[in-house]
Amino acid sequence: MKVVRTPAGMHEWRDRVRRKRRTVGLVPTMGSLHAGHISLLEASREADDRVVMSLFVNPTQFGPEEGLETYPRDEQRDLEIAAESGVDLVYVPDPAGMYPSGFATSVAVEGLTDVLEGAPGSRGPGHFTGVTTVVAKLLNAADPDRAYFGQKDAQQAAVIRRMVADLEFRQEIVVLPTVRDEDGLALSSRNLYLDPDSRRLAGVISAALLDAESVTAERGLTAGLAAGRARLVATGIEPEYFEARDPRTLEAVTESLDQPVLIAAAARIGGVRLIDNIVIEPNQPVRSTR
Ligand code: AMP
Repeated sequence: MKVVRTPAGMHEWRDRVRRKRRTVGLVPTMGSLHAGHISLLEASREADDRVVMSLFVNPTQFGPEEGLETYPRDEQRDLEIAAESGVDLVYVPDPAGMYPSGFATSVAVEGLTDVLEGAPGSRGPGHFTGVTTVVAKLLNAADPDRAYFGQKDAQQAAVIRRMVADLEFRQEIVVLPTVRDEDGLALSSRNLYLDPDSRRLAGVISAALLDAESVTAERGLTAGLAAGRARLVATGIEPEYFEARDPRTLEAVTESLDQPVLIAAAARIGGVRLIDNIVIEPNQPVRSTR
């Protein structure tokens, strides 16, 4: 497995692979790898001749109080996991290489970034501008045939799809299901911050989403959302949001269930901000609740 740390090194490798007419998959990550990331790497290993994983804690997508400095980092461990997962090249740029002095460009997707995670009381639209700018750079640097993202960050996936369509990027965007712990908690690097009591509580977020899904099937979306919120509140958790949206446009949806509906939730548990979501497909049998 090769490790490159500069854009020039990335380009050189890409040019060589292109001459050999091999396809390339890209899995962008911020490291602290878990089974969610590994599922993306495995999907790329299946579909692509060469697998590139980027490992970059992108400073521009963190707000001032979002813990950029304390974000969990363990490059050695991440490189070992990448090697075991069949990665061919890990791209580990440093911030000065990504954003050299004089850097002045950003890629901003409007509309989709004003809601949920992008709402003013939440992380704000600047978070997504950080994400889309760095993903645009990574897509240019690695120029993969396919790039892989997790449904765990449903809004991020929708925003990236919008950017790729609008700017005519030619890479295929693949979005894969959320990988969960046994109690349903969506795997996240931030779960490492949960103390044991908070960790025990945290499974309630996915339980609330499943409640919302089953009650929606029986009594409609308004009742479903109320049931999901009530499940959280009964555990002493006040969700930051618990909302139904169109999975592609992120527009609010009301009662209409003739198309898929994204239910997205954010809540703080023991001081750790967690997000999760579920997509309700129309006319799908109800999954059992826990
Ligand atoms: P991150 O390192 O948190 O920026 O995540 C890198 C990629 O992994 C993103 O596309 C995430 O959506 C995806 N990801 C994170 N957690 C999970 C999970 N539990 N299941 C599937 N994909 C995930």
